[in-house]
Amino acid sequence: MLPPRKSRTIHVRHLALGGSAPIAVQSMAATRTQDVEATLRQVRLLEDAGADLVRIAIDSKADVEALRTIRARSKALLAVDLQENYRLAELVAPHVDKLRYNPGHLHHHEKAKPVEEKVAYLVEVARRHQLALRIGVNAGSIAPAWSERYPDELDALVHSAADHCAMIDALGFSDYCVSIKDSDPRHVVEANVRFAELRPDVPLHLGVTEAGLPPDGIIKTRIAFEQLLARGLGDTLRVSLTVPFDDKGLEIETGRAILADVEAGRFRSVPPNFFQGLNIIACPSCSRVENEKFIELAQDVKALTRYATEHDLTIAVMGCRVNGPGETDDADLGLWCGPTHVNLKRGSAELGAYPYAEILARLKHELDALIAVRATARS
Ligand code: SF4
Repeated sequence: MLPPRKSRTIHVRHLALGGSAPIAVQSMAATRTQDVEATLRQVRLLEDAGADLVRIAIDSKADVEALRTIRARSKALLAVDLQENYRLAELVAPHVDKLRYNPGHLHHHEKAKPVEEKVAYLVEVARRHQLALRIGVNAGSIAPAWSERYPDELDALVHSAADHCAMIDALGFSDYCVSIKDSDPRHVVEANVRFAELRPDVPLHLGVTEAGLPPDGIIKTRIAFEQLLARGLGDTLRVSLTVPFDDKGLEIETGRAILADVEAGRFRSVPPNFFQGLNIIACPSCSRVENEKFIELAQDVKALTRYATEHDLTIAVMGCRVNGPGETDDADLGLWCGPTHVNLKRGSAELGAYPYAEILARLKHELDALIAVRATARS
């Protein structure tokens, strides 16, 4: 039995989230939204796997046109991920059931406009179209105002979410939930626990972002979800895995399996050294992926770096140039994909963009150099 949850119940159309409602399992289309047939196939694949809600990324008016067609041909409950261009909300709203905005992206456009006005706009759109909202904060894109105010990253995440809740509360809107994601499951647990202490009433969407390739991606997700679900935290969840598009149903199956295990009191433990050694994080892919070779690249990076598993280093592999630079900030080596080239950085130093055929050799060169520097420092 899962412990009772203190969150209030909100609705995404007929789907209840929070309170005593069943914990919903959701996922996101990894295909380019404008490739309508591929995205519809992806939506159906996720529905067939048991998804309660399917999210789609929208960045442009052309994406909105594609969304219109997808909506007309699918009965799935659809959520949309708004990025920098939050003003697309009013175009997107007639075709979806839920909007997710990231407080860390609102400052990119209309820089002089107060954040409260931008939130009021989103709430007005949601209210007019009877949509639910998700405040989705992410460690890779914390709004600068909150990073400056809270030097501790988890504090910045938690207070960014709580402050946005307060802004929405002030507008008398209650159909919203919150997600606080990080690629480190320990941070996900800590941040969500801290947030729930401040706002036990707000439904939580759980996720470990950029969990990466199975099996590690599944283990990281399980670590976070077990801890949170067992505390009565989590009203909907999404498992993010870097897998081929046709295998995306695995995200839903994994989410349901973790839920069933926690409900039955079956917990998996990990050895104390699980978090030591080479850590590869990778995004799950979405419409913004610019070259489908990204999934293969993430798999190749894992295979190539097997010889370095005992070294405490993080390599991040991201699918696009929109979020790649920010999401690789905490890694020792970061890669993010463009249409023909892959960008590489060491710490914060950008090293350049390399063709797909050359990036693995360049990555190995940098990895060997980092290992050598650490060996010298130790001796
Ligand atoms: S890094 Fe880019 S491609 Fe990957 S999930 Fe995030 S937005 Fe999508």
